[in-house]
Amino acid sequence: MSSERGTLYTIAAPSGAGKTSLVKALIESKKFVNVSVSHTTRPPRPGEIDGVNYHFVSPQQFQAMLAESQFIEHAEVFGNFYGTSRQWVESNLAQGLDVILEIDWQGAQQVKRLLPETLSIFILPPSRQALLERLTNRGQDDEAVIQRRMDEAISEMSHYADADYLVINECFDNALKDLRCIIRAQRLIAKAQHLRQEKLIEGLLQH
Ligand code: GDP
Ligand code: ADP
Ligand code: 5GP
Repeated sequence: MSSERGTLYTIAAPSGAGKTSLVKALIESKKFVNVSVSHTTRPPRPGEIDGVNYHFVSPQQFQAMLAESQFIEHAEVFGNFYGTSRQWVESNLAQGLDVILEIDWQGAQQVKRLLPETLSIFILPPSRQALLERLTNRGQDDEAVIQRRMDEAISEMSHYADADYLVINECFDNALKDLRCIIRAQRLIAKAQHLRQEKLIEGLLQH
């Protein structure tokens, strides 16, 4: 285990752009990257499991956690509350693990203000039509919810320029490669490598 703190990433995108599928594929291949499971007051979708996709809580439970400052950030999105556990994020970073937060732009802004070393990634769909098709094909939201998410998409997307990295999810595999590159490049920053590769470097520089 390295003594270097892990890197914190936020990934924002309009709903349906593909961030959940991309992050799922990403963490399957990277042992040192964990994704935070948010708390939400939204009801579970069919197939969603408590503790896996989200921690599903009542509005009262959410307010109680908020009052106890248990969230590193929180936001109201589409009429539901979402929040990220401070304790979970801190403990993963302290162990040298990278952490991904799949959160909306309001949350990403809060996290960046609190922890300026956070790297923010924005994912855009290749077109509005593709976004609508993905929301529809996902088959988990009714028409009114999809319409609301399409309406909100423009305002969410308008924040793309605040991010450090912008990935277009047209071809899934290419977008996944882009995400892997971002994380890989960050791991190679010399300051962090110096700590991780201390023994190797010591050996190389011995007279
Ligand atoms: P997976 O089922 O374990 O691969 O989970 P994912 O969340 O990565 O993907 C879920 C579903 O999304 C897949 O079964 C596909 O139907 C769809 N999907 C993901 N990537 C693509 C893509 O690049 N193109 C298309 N057409 N569908 C995709
Ligand atoms: P988000 O988490 O951003 O709301 P999802 O990961 O749930 O988005 O993706 C929305 C839908 O689009 C899912 O059904 C997913 O399988 C599909 N999808 C993701 N990426 C692509 C892609 N590059 N091409 C086509 N469909 C995609
Ligand atoms: P969904 O209900 O489709 O899973 O997510 C809806 C929106 O809420 C997405 O934009 C997602 O990024 C955002 N979201 C999910 N979890 C969190 C969280 O913990 N904090 C914040 N700020 N946004 C979140």
